[in-house]
Amino acid sequence: MTPTATELRARLREILGADGLLTTDADCAPYLTDHRQLYQGVALGVALPRTVAQVSQLLSSCNAQRVGVVPQGGNTSYCGGATPDESASQLLVSLQRLNRIRSIDPANYSLVAEAGCILARLQQAADEADRLLPLTLGSQGSCQIGGNLSTNAGGTSVLRYGMARDLVLGLEVVLADGRMLDSLTALRKDNTGYDIKSLFLGAEGTLGIITAASLKLFPKVRDVATAFVAIADVRAAVTLLARLREASSDRVSSFELIPRVAVELTTRHIAQVTDPLDRAHDWYVLCELSSSRAADGLEELMSTALSAALADGLVRDAAVARNERERAALWKLRESIPEAQRKEGASLKHDVAVPVAALADFLARATPWVDAHVPEARLVAYGHVGDGNLHFNISPLAGADTARFLAQAPAVRRAIHDLVREFGGSFSAEHGIGRLKVDELERYANPVELDLMRAVKRAFDPHGIMNPGKVLRA
Ligand SMILES: Cc1cc2nc3c(=O)[nH]c(=O)nc-3n(C[C@H](O)[C@H](O)[C@H](O)COP(=O)(O)OP(=O)(O)OC[C@H]3O[C@@H](n4cnc5c(N)ncnc54)[C@H](O)[C@@H]3O)c2cc1C
Repeated sequence: MTPTATELRARLREILGADGLLTTDADCAPYLTDHRQLYQGVALGVALPRTVAQVSQLLSSCNAQRVGVVPQGGNTSYCGGATPDESASQLLVSLQRLNRIRSIDPANYSLVAEAGCILARLQQAADEADRLLPLTLGSQGSCQIGGNLSTNAGGTSVLRYGMARDLVLGLEVVLADGRMLDSLTALRKDNTGYDIKSLFLGAEGTLGIITAASLKLFPKVRDVATAFVAIADVRAAVTLLARLREASSDRVSSFELIPRVAVELTTRHIAQVTDPLDRAHDWYVLCELSSSRAADGLEELMSTALSAALADGLVRDAAVARNERERAALWKLRESIPEAQRKEGASLKHDVAVPVAALADFLARATPWVDAHVPEARLVAYGHVGDGNLHFNISPLAGADTARFLAQAPAVRRAIHDLVREFGGSFSAEHGIGRLKVDELERYANPVELDLMRAVKRAFDPHGIMNPGKVLRA
């Protein structure tokens, strides 16, 4: 270890206390591999601050010594953004101990929480205050609100409530030089110059550390109707979505596309997941209507809309959940798809978005491409179809040579992302850039936008200590 590193560790122990800095291999190990196990980092140490003042002091020390800092929330992100590099020279800062809910204001429909709060705990707290925090992800039991905001997470409620950034009223952030930006307002209107806080949303820890957020809440859901619907094809899904939005006064809160193969994978690998319908169909949607009014008649509305769609040939069959247990079972099927795919083996993952109306045409071009160029694999394309977002994943067939299959990743990625660009889409709809997609950003970003991103990075972090090599090349 260099003398500088020894000095820095001593200084960090002064700031954080003896138990606030982990340095042994065994203690650090749980923080150093990303969720998908694509990267294995080596760190100078793992800092566990308990207060905003500690975050400020540690960043000020790291900035003075030009030491790279990697913020980490729940470590559930998919692009390696929360994992340090292999140099042993970066400090990982876990926000897990900065986890107080500072206040809930039901009258203002808002709450203030520290970055390390687990998302599910905030949902629960909002619920207990008779309010709804709508951000909903499969990882909500372990991801943290600071990570959600730093990745601008999406999830299954975006259609109705927007991405994570749409839920933010204010932020508290510690900048690279240790200064605190207190923008923790609960205001809904504040047009006072540039919206600086918005730059931290989706910045993946490259501009500063979010320490707390003021978030919007909504009326609690008191009536819900959930259906698992076999559809004629993907085009029918888009038509059905438009019809349901109109018929329900825009109360569609989720609309998720599920291919047959995902039903097969989840029923095979995940305990207690069963096929909700008697016969197999190529495509399904899981759709949900919700209302803050109790007994709002949503189930009847859903059944009527689905019957009409059945008569028109858009829908082939449907199961409407009759109680909370059946609803939970339908959602378990949807939420277990990533886990079932992981159990099935390696896969090539793409998180793409195209305009909703172009989804069917995009799949009509992309599917035969996969069949022709990756014959030893099959496509598992599912996701938030109401947002035009597909998790376009490719899994090898049983018996395929995994190494040969994975070696095709760059060529497959290039072809899929080029096609997405043709459709005016995004190569990263909700998972961000991290370390994995830095090259993609350089290839596909508008050059003017990329210049502005670099200028923002220099302005906020002139010494490049914040999460080096993530989003932008170091
Ligand atoms: C089963 C499963 C389902 C998922 N479903 C979805 C989904 O539907 N939609 C979706 O968008 N994502 C989804 N994800 C991905 C992931 O859960 C989200 O990206 C989530 O927002 C990451 O939060 P985290 O706390 O785990 O962040 P981490 O992985 O710890 O960090 C993510 C990034 O944010 C930075 N960061 C973390 N905390 C802070 C902070 N306080 N200040 C500054 N920077 C910080 C890190 O440096 C890193 O760059 C899913 C993941 C899993 C495993």
